[in-house]
Amino acid sequence: MTDPRSPEIGSWRVLADVAERSQRYLNDIGERRVAPSRDALAGLGAFDVPLQEGSISAEQIVEELDRIGSPATMAIAGPRFFGFVNSSALPAALAANWLSTAWEQHGGFFVSAPGSTTLEQIALRWTIELLGLPPAAKGAFVTGTTLAHVAALAAARDSVLARAGWNVETNGLFGAPAITVIAGAEAHATLFKALGIVGLGRGRVVKVPVDSQGRMRADAVPVIAGPTIVCVQAGNVNTGAFDPFEDIIRLVRRSDAPAWVHVDGAFGLWARVAPARASLAHGIELADSWATDAHKWLNAPYDCGIVIVRDGDALRKAMAINADYLPSEQANPSDYTPEVSRRPRGVDAWAALRTLGRSGVADLVERSCRLAQRFALAFSDAGFSVLNDVVLNQVLVSFGDAERTRQVVSAIQQDGTCWCGATVWQGRTAMRVSVISWATTGADVDRSIAAILRLARG
Ligand SMILES: *Cc1c(COP(=O)(O)O)cnc(C)c1O
Repeated sequence: MTDPRSPEIGSWRVLADVAERSQRYLNDIGERRVAPSRDALAGLGAFDVPLQEGSISAEQIVEELDRIGSPATMAIAGPRFFGFVNSSALPAALAANWLSTAWEQHGGFFVSAPGSTTLEQIALRWTIELLGLPPAAKGAFVTGTTLAHVAALAAARDSVLARAGWNVETNGLFGAPAITVIAGAEAHATLFKALGIVGLGRGRVVKVPVDSQGRMRADAVPVIAGPTIVCVQAGNVNTGAFDPFEDIIRLVRRSDAPAWVHVDGAFGLWARVAPARASLAHGIELADSWATDAHKWLNAPYDCGIVIVRDGDALRKAMAINADYLPSEQANPSDYTPEVSRRPRGVDAWAALRTLGRSGVADLVERSCRLAQRFALAFSDAGFSVLNDVVLNQVLVSFGDAERTRQVVSAIQQDGTCWCGATVWQGRTAMRVSVISWATTGADVDRSIAAILRLARG
């Protein structure tokens, strides 16, 4: 047998090499095409070889990944990717991710990850404070808002049914009283996925009509009776709009039905941190649970979502496990997450918060919103229709009919100066611009506007 620590496969020298290659990749990213070239994508075929018999050195692996893989990436880490709601990792957060991966801590239990668990708890406390949520709320770091929905909705389900005299942990949902689930007609697709996973069904949701911005109409919320979960949204994925939280939550609290209000605040919840935007999310602190992402506006690397629940015991009851060999003296992250073995991804969020500070987070949110307005102004000055009220960081623009708009979106993606996606908003095809990266400057926005207008007028 070969020594597993042979210089071939067991040397840490490779980490200096990977740091240098990553630095080169990130230094150059602002000047390369945003979407990978056709040649780079075709080059991925070189990975498709049969698994060889012998070992290959770590250096060679990294060389292969960088040579074939790096050119075929989408430049999401750069300053001019405006697709979906994808931000780029802050240097401190990426570095913390690397170091904590080197630590190889089992982030499920305090005993096997004392430092990481401490950092995750602090990051969670800072987040709760920054977002102005109830100080006694509990939560955890999960992979994203989708899993934050799953965890929060499981707690919601168990809590409203417990109040109706049914124990879900023991008996499941067979024979349980029905839960009415209410959401806005423009709720995010991941909410329905999560509702399906926790057994509440994707198709039986009562959808409340919305206004032109996708905001739930409080006057159209049905009378709350029986066990009920109401799902509201901070930051519509197309328009950036916010539901009228205070009105809706007041309605829910007026009823004596066992009810729970859950917030999808994947990116919009962070508006709370920027003084000029905070009023958009007024009243959101009155809800029962909140799902958000650190890999969106906080610019932590993937994958990093956050679930926060007012009644921490409800989350713990829905998520905790019992086994004799498992430690239970301290609070364990896995008592609050769907996973047990997990990477302590909250360390990345800790680093992002620690490097930015409170005003850094506020500036990042405010700057993104201002740059979104700059896009919107340039589009309307050029005679194109902006379809949404640009209250946050999202811009929807039409360049004519659906076909023309799709042509422009496809042209800008091929051009490579920046990247924006297409969407259909209330029947109209639009290009969607989402500004959320710490690295995006006014110059990046102007350069992108120039490219988009050149293609849209051509
Ligand atoms: C991105 C997003 C989600 C899903 O978040 P993931 O981190 O991808 O799981 C849910 N809701 C909204 C409004 C989003 O923008």
